[in-house]
Amino acid sequence: MFEMSVEQALAALEQKIGELEAGLGESVRERYRRLIGVGQRVVVPVLGGICYGCFVAVPTSWAAGADPNEKLNVCQNCGRFLYHPP
Ligand SMILES: [Zn+2]
Repeated sequence: MFEMSVEQALAALEQKIGELEAGLGESVRERYRRLIGVGQRVVVPVLGGICYGCFVAVPTSWAAGADPNEKLNVCQNCGRFLYHPP
């Protein structure tokens, strides 16, 4: 059950964000809608410490927890939501 493709994980996460959109903070919701509005992928994976939205290294300090996907992480460079593949 832990085998999940990036596409599946992204689809699940995007659906989750959609479901939670109404409950998101105003800044998060505005960011989400801004990204959606320009046709960009909103949720991108972080692989090898690199944001796959903008291909810039992202800080890893907040990824030190047991499961970085438990909290909503945002790339400080491009503003996309970050997903950490297992
Ligand atoms: Zn980025």
